[in-house]
Amino acid sequence: MTEDVWQAVDGYFSGLLLEPDPVLDAALEANALGGLPAIDVSPAQGKLLHLLASSIGARRILEVGTLGGYSTIWLGRALPPDGRLVTCEIDPHHAEVAMSNLAMAGLAEIVDVRVGPATDSLGALDAAVDGPFDLTFIDADKASNVEYFRHALRLSRPGSMIIVDNVVRAGRVADAGSTDASVLGTHRLTEAVAQEPRVSATTIQTVGSKGYDGFLLALVR
Ligand code: SAM
Repeated sequence: MTEDVWQAVDGYFSGLLLEPDPVLDAALEANALGGLPAIDVSPAQGKLLHLLASSIGARRILEVGTLGGYSTIWLGRALPPDGRLVTCEIDPHHAEVAMSNLAMAGLAEIVDVRVGPATDSLGALDAAVDGPFDLTFIDADKASNVEYFRHALRLSRPGSMIIVDNVVRAGRVADAGSTDASVLGTHRLTEAVAQEPRVSATTIQTVGSKGYDGFLLALVR
């Protein structure tokens, strides 16, 4: 199996199951024009996030790692008109592009882009005031995944879902001797999740237009 096949299969299913979406296409174009790296979730993955958020009737969503707001749009569209999404982004240029894309998507009123290191932005969130969040999507610097997971758990309620992207890293996660910071961050995350009695979790390996990777899904008990 090659990446060509994964791409073709993603194209086949997305062509049938995902409607043409000029707003999402324009967001990706704006990202490219702004020089942002094309490391957003794929359309199929974005729709998965949207369906998961819809299926739990999410009213408050937290995201760590905004980039140009592509996944934010998918998630934000699952919210009711009085819903709220807080998304954390360290790079002011990424945040600026994201805010423009979110305005174009009609989501500016319900999305709050917090600019700065996510540990600071998350630390400033109060579970009683800003939360609880029904769903958290973690997709920033992988070395800090465990800190983001701990904040997500603090800001959750029983029944909340926490999703972490890029936990498989083309299989490198299985290398116990890895010195890669992202792999080590994923090891720390997975060990913390395994020892955390307040969540039940699994991981799903994925292939597709974004290569070979995977999600960790944790349900807060
Ligand atoms: N979730 C986005 C999507 O699918 O459209 C993609 C996010 S991209 C993989 C990761 C983002 O996290 C980048 O925009 C990067 O600038 C941001 N980031 C990296 N380190 C961060 C940190 N310490 N705090 C907040 N954001 C960070």
